[in-house]
Amino acid sequence: MSVTYLPLKAWNTHWTLDGPLVRCRHCGVSQDLTAAGAFQHALGCTARTLQAQYPSRELAALLQQKIQLGLF
Ligand SMILES: [Zn+2]
Repeated sequence: MSVTYLPLKAWNTHWTLDGPLVRCRHCGVSQDLTAAGAFQHALGCTARTLQAQYPSRELAALLQQKIQLGLF
């Protein structure tokens, strides 16, 4: 059976992992995965939103969901 991991796919369209860093695919700015603060994009980045973004927290939540579903 083929399962599409849509939320992770969506995460992946905006962010990428670079060692201990999470990087915005649009502006290239990175933040440590353990950083607690909101992500700071480069000025004029198209991925910037009015709402604060926490890509590491989002990723952690996605992974936790998968573990609970027994996908990992
Ligand atoms: Zn950005």
